[in-house]
Amino acid sequence: MSCNHHPDDSTLLSYGAGSLPDALAMVVACHIAACSHCRGKIADAEQIGLGLMEQEPVQSMSERSREWMLAMLDEPCEESMPEPQLAVGDDSDGDIPAPLQPLIGQWFSELHWRTMAPGMKQFILPASQGKLRLLKIAPGTFMPSHGHSGSELTLVLKGSYSDELGRFSAGDVADVDPDMNHQPVADTHEGCICLIATDGPLRFKGLVPRLLQPFFQL
Ligand SMILES: [Zn+2]
Repeated sequence: MSCNHHPDDSTLLSYGAGSLPDALAMVVACHIAACSHCRGKIADAEQIGLGLMEQEPVQSMSERSREWMLAMLDEPCEESMPEPQLAVGDDSDGDIPAPLQPLIGQWFSELHWRTMAPGMKQFILPASQGKLRLLKIAPGTFMPSHGHSGSELTLVLKGSYSDELGRFSAGDVADVDPDMNHQPVADTHEGCICLIATDGPLRFKGLVPRLLQPFFQL
């Protein structure tokens, strides 16, 4: 699978260091299961981190070391990458990504989706840090315009959508800054299923989404 949109380098670095909240980490795990480009970046960062630890006992990563690792992550990675070291679900054959299967099984069609609004259904996943959900959007459906009070990572699993950042297809990740407002719209030829993680409540502009927000844990 070729991806056009990847998590930010800082997100990959946090994932590699094990410091990403588990909801966000699950989105990265599902993305790198299909993205050798990002697997290579994480492997590079881990090698650099091991080298630093061998040189001196590091209490916490200095700002200079962090900048150095981010610069190294910008270097092009090799074509041939190691297979991902996923902890769970490597023998998957369903349409749900392998890292998610121990939580919810193998097939989207077997999930009990909850209707949020016309053309929008969600399925909440367990997460101890942040919120994690699957969202199913009917073809051509406009999501409510919203901003963020924290990070938002969205991985497209089926179909595609477009917003102010571009067009996102299966395998792509939108790594949205807290200060950005956007309004995703599912493409018209087929519906879209996304895995979305947030570590802070969304900020809706419209009254109706704001009123519904507590009921859907948005
Ligand atoms: Zn990637």
